[in-house]
Amino acid sequence: MLDVQEAQNIVLQHTPPGRAVTLPLESAPDHYLAVDVIADMDVPPFDRAAMDGYALRAEDVQATPAFLEVIGESPAGLVPTFTIGHGQAARIMTGAVVPAGADAVQMVEKTEAGEAERRVRVLMPVGVGDNITRRGVEVRRGQKVLTAGRYLGAGEIAVLAMFGHVSVLVWQKPTVAVLATGDELVEPCENPKPGQIRNSNSYALAAQLRTVGLQATRLTVAKDTKADLRMRIVEGLAYDLLLLTGGVSMGKYDLVEEILAELGIAVFFDHVAIKPGKPVVFGRKGDGLIFGLPGNPVSSYVTFECLVRPALLKWMGGPTDALLMVTGELENRIKQKPGRMAFLPAWSVWDHGRWSVKVLPSKGSADIVAFSLANSLFVFPKDRTVYEPGDPVSVLLLDDFFRRRRATGL
Ligand code: AMP
Ligand code: MG
Repeated sequence: MLDVQEAQNIVLQHTPPGRAVTLPLESAPDHYLAVDVIADMDVPPFDRAAMDGYALRAEDVQATPAFLEVIGESPAGLVPTFTIGHGQAARIMTGAVVPAGADAVQMVEKTEAGEAERRVRVLMPVGVGDNITRRGVEVRRGQKVLTAGRYLGAGEIAVLAMFGHVSVLVWQKPTVAVLATGDELVEPCENPKPGQIRNSNSYALAAQLRTVGLQATRLTVAKDTKADLRMRIVEGLAYDLLLLTGGVSMGKYDLVEEILAELGIAVFFDHVAIKPGKPVVFGRKGDGLIFGLPGNPVSSYVTFECLVRPALLKWMGGPTDALLMVTGELENRIKQKPGRMAFLPAWSVWDHGRWSVKVLPSKGSADIVAFSLANSLFVFPKDRTVYEPGDPVSVLLLDDFFRRRRATGL
């Protein structure tokens, strides 16, 4: 059976790089940049005042207090037409152009305006260049300011705006459909009849997709009949990614693989040595990817994190090693049967300079209520059987780790 790492590699190998698309700047956040961005001007584009105060010649204020004649004003947005001579100064505002002749700005707090604002008393000396940001010291025209592949957060968006990019070439996000399968499933708004349960996986997967900025389409739940399942799968193949849940294990009505085969979809694996989640299918049709995740809610969640998330990140031009793995110290004793890499719900905290990891009690792969208390997944390597308190362990921090609060009273 494939290891989790091997399965991840197969998934990544078959994940096509996304298509580049031009988006308006407002729509570009949370995408990855597909081109380098070059500065179209110097920054600052002129010698810029860093303070509100007076533009002056430093040599005139070496002995203080010094009295200077105020010959004008340089507000932000205008280019001053006067030149500062000996014994002269001009009021200047932060972000304004430093007038010719001036070589320093003294901040207003270190001055006293004289009568009729025609004179100023400078109380403290300044050095040449003080409180002036010279043209081009931050960025030179022609310089590369963003490289292809950069994630577009608020800082990068500011850079794009600064250099006049009203639209930008980024990697397009895939379209994704989620398809739950099973005769026992009813929608959350319904009251399950005997033998039925509510479909939670479609909603959970859509929520996981949102953490990578994707708005999934939830398809109508497929029945466990070949005709209905086939119809829904065909519908789902119109999307870049189709995530199925359920119907991939060994039961008589686990029909997903059979129908994928009938539809000519190449399947690269249908089992991974992962716990929970052993039956997990990955296939490809053209540039479209198909995942058949197990039906148990925890298995669906975990296999998404281990296999689907890296594929989505690659598709969107992002880093594929972005699973947040940290090394910590285990709090409780924990055992398992060897053979599969296990992912167990855990609560991890950064405590006195180390990660402290507590594995949470759980009844297994269907127990999403217990699992929902986790902020991280304790990774139990497949060949190991026991961990003692204090042992160093690996944990995968969930994508919403930093937004989670420890639930109490459950
Ligand atoms: P299956 O993989 O179809 O055999 O399903 C495994 C288990 O997961 C069964 O107990 C199903 O009832 C349950 N299950 C399957 N799909 C869902 C779903 N969408 N939401 C919640 N539970 C599910
Ligand atoms: Mg089923």
